[in-house]
Amino acid sequence: MTCFECGQGSLISGEMDLVGERNGESFVVRMEGLKCDQCGFQTIDSVQSSEFTRLVSDAYREKHGLLTSAEVRARRAQLGMTQQQFSDYLGTGIASVKRWEVGQIQDKAMDELIRLKTDPVAARRNLRSLERKVPESVIIFDCEDMVLELSASETHYTERPTMTIEKMSVLQYHEDCNADACLAA
Ligand SMILES: [Zn+2]
Repeated sequence: MTCFECGQGSLISGEMDLVGERNGESFVVRMEGLKCDQCGFQTIDSVQSSEFTRLVSDAYREKHGLLTSAEVRARRAQLGMTQQQFSDYLGTGIASVKRWEVGQIQDKAMDELIRLKTDPVAARRNLRSLERKVPESVIIFDCEDMVLELSASETHYTERPTMTIEKMSVLQYHEDCNADACLAA
């Protein structure tokens, strides 16, 4: 193919470093392209152009701690889901899943959601951090006169205004407590 820059040399296929830009940042990627044997002009064809897009996006994603195209695809494959199933699972459109897998960059929030829904380790870490921030409480019993609630940080009684001490002691030892039974007790 004749070079369309100088019109003299030939465009020869070979490995080269190409510079691409993503969100205002430049990245150098190494890939197969076309180079003029006379003037040194470099270019890529349409197939190489898709690869170039993906490589530059992946370089950006790696730098910013986002999942690459291959990683998104691998996580979907691990769940045995089609692109349609995966997009339903994430609550997004299939077009988005297709685009991420060919090189469009998912935003930080979506990246987080993909990790939480595909990686048990990330999901557990999130659960642990959430439990520290929002202590889960366990209702031990809840009847007409009293609620005994056990939370991760403390045990506390919520006393309703009409409750008497005598009744409380009865309720504390009453098994399988429910409203009707407590009233009877
Ligand atoms: Zn040339």
